[in-house]
Amino acid sequence: MTLRQFWLEPYCDRFTTRIARTDGELVWLEESIFFAQSGGQESDSGTIAGVPVVNAAQVDGDLQYLMPGNHGLKAGQAVEVVIDWPRRYALMRLHFAAEIVLEVAMRDFGLTEKIGAHIAAHKARIDFLYPEPVTTLLPGILAQAQQVIDRDCVIVSDWQDRKSEKRFWRIEGFASVACGGTHLRRTSEVGQLALSRKNLGRGKERIEITARAPATVARSRGDAVS
Ligand SMILES: [Zn+2]
Repeated sequence: MTLRQFWLEPYCDRFTTRIARTDGELVWLEESIFFAQSGGQESDSGTIAGVPVVNAAQVDGDLQYLMPGNHGLKAGQAVEVVIDWPRRYALMRLHFAAEIVLEVAMRDFGLTEKIGAHIAAHKARIDFLYPEPVTTLLPGILAQAQQVIDRDCVIVSDWQDRKSEKRFWRIEGFASVACGGTHLRRTSEVGQLALSRKNLGRGKERIEITARAPATVARSRGDAVS
């Protein structure tokens, strides 16, 4: 099984590993920093040995990468994996924005029936079953979520169960949540939240989330991040 290095080093955008095996256009790595869509968070984009990855997927608990037909990669070969860091960081920021909004919405605003979520690099969304427009709830949710962000809380990410590869994140005094995504170090990295509502019909309500990056944003491992 591919070692998910993106859990241990979510700020790593460049990494050397080996090809575990190949099967035609499909390639598996021994270890990977290249996230494949899961829990609503979109896949990274980037390259393996300079060859652009066409698609990344989680299949049977493993990470597989679809490469162009002429990739020329061989099992055992050492390769450098590089991800598009601005895209990953945008995904991490919106992922955590959605985590905070969801916690606040469920706990204090009665939005307990989440039916879906999606994290793209420009916008995140969470869908709920709720019998009326959530419009009137949004200012309250926004204010509380922004407070958590502005408190600049430390986000702890660790194993919930090492054997079954279950991960969680925790903010002291706020929440502890099971999640296999890639998480920020501190809440202030999310930036300035904005929320809007979309009516999906038949009692389904969507909250759309965007976040304006703070003036100083953390960068990848290559840069100094305290
Ligand atoms: Zn998460």
